[in-house]
Amino acid sequence: MNKITNHLPTAELQALDAAHHMHPFTANAFLAEKGARVITRATGVTLTDSEGEQILDAMAGLWCVNIGYGRDELADVAYRQMKELPYYNTFFMSTHVPAIALADKVAELAPGNLNHVFFASGGSEANDTNIRLVRTYWQNLGKPSKQIIIGRNNAYHGSTLGATSLGGMKGMQAQGGLLPGFAHIGQPHWYLEGGDMSPEEFGLMRARELEAKIAELGEENVAAFIAEPVQGAGGVIVPPDSYWPEIQRICDAHDILLIVDEVITGFGRTGEWFGTQYYGLRPDIITIAKGLSSGYAPIGGSVVSDHVAEVLGREEFAHGYTYSGHPVAAAVALENLRILEDEKIVDHVKNEAAPYLAEKWHQLGDHPFVGETKIVGMMASLALTADKSVRKPFESPAGTVGYMVREKCFANNLIMRHVGDRMIVAPPLVMTKADIDLLFERAVKSLDEGY
Ligand code: PLP
Repeated sequence: MNKITNHLPTAELQALDAAHHMHPFTANAFLAEKGARVITRATGVTLTDSEGEQILDAMAGLWCVNIGYGRDELADVAYRQMKELPYYNTFFMSTHVPAIALADKVAELAPGNLNHVFFASGGSEANDTNIRLVRTYWQNLGKPSKQIIIGRNNAYHGSTLGATSLGGMKGMQAQGGLLPGFAHIGQPHWYLEGGDMSPEEFGLMRARELEAKIAELGEENVAAFIAEPVQGAGGVIVPPDSYWPEIQRICDAHDILLIVDEVITGFGRTGEWFGTQYYGLRPDIITIAKGLSSGYAPIGGSVVSDHVAEVLGREEFAHGYTYSGHPVAAAVALENLRILEDEKIVDHVKNEAAPYLAEKWHQLGDHPFVGETKIVGMMASLALTADKSVRKPFESPAGTVGYMVREKCFANNLIMRHVGDRMIVAPPLVMTKADIDLLFERAVKSLDEGY
């Protein structure tokens, strides 16, 4: 029988954790010095740790628990599905009802002609699928030289080697390398990189880097451009309004497929079902994961437009994962989408939660070391700065102050994340005004405690 349960003392759990469990995005040697916080249960927007502390989760886990924690309906569906058909695949001309029903529902919800879903277990796998998918598309069309995919500096598309190469996280690329066949342009991060330009001038300038990069590489060699509507893990970087229309124009003009990575922005986070709708985009492919199942089961996918699916379907696409369209994960995701729809959670974001969060979030901009506050729907960021009048960075190494503020928040039972010296939140979409008041109260306390 398993002897490691919630009943063990925290220190013992932490020691076992440090001894045997390698954590993602963590300096694991540090775990032995300072044990990780052990989360034992969660309900609504609140986590409980092994000491019984109640923590407000303003990150919805990893931007995924859109409907909040503790929804029994999802557990019931998983139980029933596991009893009925715990596993089967959809390779080699077989299929099953949960995958059929989920693909059908996603096609209904996704905008435009995005009507075909290729399932994966999460966002990284789905973006890896996209690499093979767009390259195969051009091959099938008789243009095999169109292979290079252009991404952006500081973008995050996942942790596999393919997804790391699509993305632009230099620290990740330094560990394990960057695959050939990828190129990157600058990010639309006006606060950090805009200099004396207006945000709109800067947005246009950054979008036009795509056109310059296509010219440099040769249009005949470029398959696609990939981007998140709002860079999430890069620090909730909201692009200037001029940015996306120009990107769309350039992709159309140069016959480049547009892949919009909706892993964070999908399923209501922006106050629309998809970030694509928020920005009025016409992508050829979108990547989905996280909010698809609200994190209750690992599932993601590539949603492909009619014209791309038609070209791909001309030959066998030799690609697939054992867990593509996993029946339990698909059934859970379907129930999650039912809850999002029936409880009108996307409307709640648009009309109540996001406007109220925005009002409170912008008030944080009055704090002496908060430089800018940005928000789209239920994803927000603020820049910590030594001198807000000139957007001056701190003298300590980048990220030190952000880390300290994050630690203050954690001690005050608020989960906020830092990206360098930028603080970010992406709460569950079901947050009420009272939850947002608590978030604000704890954020102000943590900022007031200084660094
Ligand atoms: N794409 C984006 C925009 C993400 O934010 C993430 C994860 O944070 C991923 C892809 C990778 O998804 P996963 O962690 O499910 O592999």
